[in-house]
Amino acid sequence: ANSLEGKVAIVTGGASGIGFATVKTFLAAGALGVTIVDLTSDSLSRAVSLLPSSSHSRILTYAGDVSSPSTASEYVSKTVDQWGRVDVSVQCAGISLPSKNVVDMDVEEFDKTISVNLRGVFLGLQQSLKAMLASPSGGKGCSVVLVSSQLAFDGYPGSAPYSASKAALRGLMTSVAQEVGPQGIRVNAVAPGPIDTPMLAGFPSEGHTTKGNIKRAGQPEEVANAILYLSSEMGSYCSGTTLKCDGGWSKW
Ligand code: NAD
Repeated sequence: ANSLEGKVAIVTGGASGIGFATVKTFLAAGALGVTIVDLTSDSLSRAVSLLPSSSHSRILTYAGDVSSPSTASEYVSKTVDQWGRVDVSVQCAGISLPSKNVVDMDVEEFDKTISVNLRGVFLGLQQSLKAMLASPSGGKGCSVVLVSSQLAFDGYPGSAPYSASKAALRGLMTSVAQEVGPQGIRVNAVAPGPIDTPMLAGFPSEGHTTKGNIKRAGQPEEVANAILYLSSEMGSYCSGTTLKCDGGWSKW
């Protein structure tokens, strides 16, 4: 139950959906501190108000756009200022633009998706790893989790840039896992299927109850548990892997 006791974590996209469920799960697992990163201070205040007031002293918030390089360097340095280090970094912020086929798409829509879902994760990963490596432990016992998607495996009509951005995370994750594995830092990903969050509301809903093995959409807490597993010592021998949490949608 206290698998994150004494650990300091960062969760991007932490004001909503899977990110918010991860924040709640990490606090319940005994995290010493959690930095919640999201676009606006309003969404962050709302998220914090939904968390038990007894946990507020263990929360730091940072408002910024993850695709901007200053965001990651600032949320990491503020976390280190507050608690002395970063043990866990969950790169969960992501967007899914309205469905459109490639032949109808402007390159700006492609760029926007890649900029948040891939560049934003690259920047957060880079700054988190720098802080982990610079800590007295040199990174030993630290963990990074990227939030990919089942659509990275299967694709989806109308979501090509999204699927491409999530598939690209696999290349990023497997490469970096080899770069920092020797220092004791584990880098992994989760690939959720359809999860009941505001983002899913933008997707066509037919299929959630008929496809997959479990015949329902997932709950954000179910993905948060998979993220907790990879973030904590429970997943101590997982490195460079993608944990599917998709109710059996993807048959890959
Ligand atoms: P959500 O919309 O509820 O949460 C995403 C959060 O990320 C929001 O709070 C949003 O404000 C934040 N965000 C978006 N762009 C940002 C930016 N540029 N800078 C900082 N924060 C930003 O959606 P969710 O379903 O919880 O999605 C979380 C992650 O899970 C995403 O990466 C998404 O692609 C992935 N995912 C979701 C599903 C699903 O079915 N819901 C399935 C697979 C993967």
